Amino acid sequence: MAKAKKYVYFFGSGKAEGRADMKELLGGKGANLAEMTNLKIPVPAGFTITTDVCTYYYQHGRRYPAELKAAVAAALAKVEKVMAKKFGDPENPLLVSCRSGARASMPGMMETVLNIGLTTATIPGMIRLTGNERFVWDAYRRLIMMYSDVVMEKAAGLELGEGKGIRVRLEHLMDAMKHDTGAKADTDLAAGQLQRLCAQFRAKVQEVIGKPFPDDPQEQLWGAIGAVFQSWNGKRSISYRRIEGIPDDWGTATNVQAMVFGNMGDDSATGVAFTRNPATGENKFFGEWLTNAQGEDVVAGIRTPNPLNIATKSEHTAHLKSLEEVMPGVYQALFAIRNNLEKHYRDMQDIEFTIEKGTLWMLQTRTGKRTGHAALRMAVEMLRERFITKQVGVMRVAPAQLDELLHRILDPKAEKNAKVLAKGLPAGPGGATGKVVFTAAEAVAWTERGEKVILCRKETNPEDVEGMRAAAGILTALGGMTSHAALVARGWGKCCIVGCGALKIDAAAKTITVADQTLREGDWISLNGSKGVVYQGQLPTVEPDPKNPMLVEFLKTCDAVRRLGVRANADSPKDAAVARKFGAEGIGLLRTEHMFYGEGADEPLFKLRKMILSKTPEERRAACDELYPHVKSDIKGTLAAMDGLPVTIRLLDPPLHEFVPQGEAKQKELADSLGISLDDVRKRAEALHESNPMMGHRGVRLGITYPEVSEMQVRAILEAAAELLKEGKKALPEIMIPVTCTVAELQNQAEIIAKVKAEVVAKFGLKRLDFLVGTMIEIPRAALTANKMAEAAEFFSFGTNDLTQMGFGFSRDDIGAFMPDYIAKKILAADPFQTIDQEGVGELIRMGIERGRATRPKLKVGICGEHGGDPASIHFCHNVGMNYVSCSPFRVPIARLAAAQAAVSEAAKAKKKAKK
Ligand code: ADP
Ligand code: MG
Ligand code: MG
Repeated sequence: MAKAKKYVYFFGSGKAEGRADMKELLGGKGANLAEMTNLKIPVPAGFTITTDVCTYYYQHGRRYPAELKAAVAAALAKVEKVMAKKFGDPENPLLVSCRSGARASMPGMMETVLNIGLTTATIPGMIRLTGNERFVWDAYRRLIMMYSDVVMEKAAGLELGEGKGIRVRLEHLMDAMKHDTGAKADTDLAAGQLQRLCAQFRAKVQEVIGKPFPDDPQEQLWGAIGAVFQSWNGKRSISYRRIEGIPDDWGTATNVQAMVFGNMGDDSATGVAFTRNPATGENKFFGEWLTNAQGEDVVAGIRTPNPLNIATKSEHTAHLKSLEEVMPGVYQALFAIRNNLEKHYRDMQDIEFTIEKGTLWMLQTRTGKRTGHAALRMAVEMLRERFITKQVGVMRVAPAQLDELLHRILDPKAEKNAKVLAKGLPAGPGGATGKVVFTAAEAVAWTERGEKVILCRKETNPEDVEGMRAAAGILTALGGMTSHAALVARGWGKCCIVGCGALKIDAAAKTITVADQTLREGDWISLNGSKGVVYQGQLPTVEPDPKNPMLVEFLKTCDAVRRLGVRANADSPKDAAVARKFGAEGIGLLRTEHMFYGEGADEPLFKLRKMILSKTPEERRAACDELYPHVKSDIKGTLAAMDGLPVTIRLLDPPLHEFVPQGEAKQKELADSLGISLDDVRKRAEALHESNPMMGHRGVRLGITYPEVSEMQVRAILEAAAELLKEGKKALPEIMIPVTCTVAELQNQAEIIAKVKAEVVAKFGLKRLDFLVGTMIEIPRAALTANKMAEAAEFFSFGTNDLTQMGFGFSRDDIGAFMPDYIAKKILAADPFQTIDQEGVGELIRMGIERGRATRPKLKVGICGEHGGDPASIHFCHNVGMNYVSCSPFRVPIARLAAAQAAVSEAAKAKKKAKK
């Protein structure tokens, strides 16, 4: 015969049938109550009805398994034995609480009901037993209020309307009673007054809900148990599960537990505490407590709670007595439990306790939530004490928490009360506040005269970079996470929100309209770039500490654990220096075209334009010669800054027409310099027009049609390296050829590179000149033919922005029009430009690596798209065996953390597999 399923797990007097690792079956609360019991920590006896019962309940038309009644009765009998009381007994009544407990704590689940078992029959016995009439009526009025609210109204699905619920009505009665008797706090009400209040409560329940308040203990108990399971499918629980991705079939457990009372007088109390400070991470026992109180009085804020101990008193609580002072013996016992729990769970715990007539009882423990600062500090301090292993330590800080620590942010307190204007995509991290300006030129001018500005544009383009650099933050109405504004902002670690469609930005009128409101030039706004929220007004910001020694120490631990390398995308010596400061081990992408934008770009840009408009190879060669010194010195600076670490330099990538001058003055200047007419310049510019430039004459295609352009760049790279070597310095360039789709393109360019190399080696009299030649893999065909590509490429770098664009056929500059619908309608789970689409684009990558390494086993593989800084994508990169990821300098710490976490997850999975 199959063994009957066990639906009820008992815990009490030092022994429990469950354990902490049984959260799936017992829920978080039940599993930890069992664990504490086994640790001999004083926990009131009780039992847990499993999540299986919840599943059964919904699979069988809301009925319980047949054997449940008997199992609950048996467990209740055990509780009665341990507590030496009987549930429903008029002489010696046991009271219980009924507490829901899902695997993960879930708002929307039924709230706890305390004092179950108080009835007209048991009240007199309870009064005799405790000799405390006031306490019993206080407990009863609480039972009526909680039960009628959570069981009779909410779980039953009664819709009484806003402000008309039973709880509010009962609170009115209580306020009236307080008013009539002159009581200030609930504790001032005397026994007789509370007794009268209870009678009023019961009448009100009958009136509002249309049913009498149950006066039978079994009916109360099963009503509460049913309400817990019922609430699993309540509206709020369901929508919470949708948001958090919690499966519907997990189910919740129910805990029934003997009551202990914190409301029996001044020798009784209740409290909540954290084993360490959850806001700062400081290793100090931190909590709050209230005498003569029950359940959630502390959290509900009915009275100002007292501090737990002397060490954690603040200026606001200095005048209040701590538990340490009032009940030193109990405090010492609680402190010992605190140490015991931390040692056992090896993590900060969030605990609930109650003191009944000087006796301490524990009612809950769970891993405590914490801020980014606290997470970092706790991890580092526990690592220092060897309290946890490196592998555990690196899992203790979430990438988003690390992000919190790296940027100036809006003051979270101020944010709570601020007016939200609109929401967009969180393109650049941190917070910024400034005055609205509408053009790059104004951004520069205002900043120069000492103003802080937010540059607001419909969208940005390369001409805006100076203004973007100057502004404190950037806000655009259009564009996605990989739009120009987003890329530039993230590269600089600058706060930026894009795709904020609710804003009508009118640069001509210098207004922003949002809903019925109009903002003008000079009005203050504030951005939360990590969340994508735009606020009205000037919010205060808080500064991160760049040299935070804890952060440095923590990231070193990450480095010891990770396998994946971390590089940065950096275009200039300045960016390279930032990248190294954050721990980059090389540059994964240096875009040569950056030198034609922004500060100091005028001269090289003019020469580039000359080159672009050249007609004959001779003209072009002459223009290249003029451009050459600019390119070389730029690259040399970055190679020097990286001091022998690898620097991947991409040959010219963008469509040329992006650089063609538009204004007549600029065109005239070029015409004069080239010795041709203005009309000729216009004609040549027009000839460069393309209908689909993203797939047009760009990348390696330029190098194929204009070999002299490739030759100039390769010579600049290799001579820069040679000069550094001659100066006794180190240089390790990697030449990267973009937008390739066939190995023949690579072979073509390789000939140029070989020829230039021979010339440079001869010219400088070098014995050796080390560098690599590789390619971007960003066209699906390149990934599919990776085995051939690897014949000519010593490394691959997956350009996942373009690979996603071409893999999906989504223009990345135009996704704003449909991506929000795709996400809302769940056509796609996430924006594939933000996190790698593992199923499709990821498959191209996986295949590309496999095929590439089949040809060249030591093939070096990295990623240089925006995904290189996305934690989920970094996990993927680790799993497919890449050598490194490359991301914006400011994301490097996050990538180091994510790479370490990927390594730990992989090891954990392997271990689990080996066990099976
Ligand atoms: P939540 O999940 O919202 O924290 P809990 O089930 O922990 O809800 O209960 C709310 C409050 O009631 C807590 O402060 C808890 O300590 C208290 N409580 C629950 N059960 C008992 C009990 N058997 N005796 C005394 N207090 C209890
Ligand atoms: Mg609660
Ligand atoms: Mg709790």
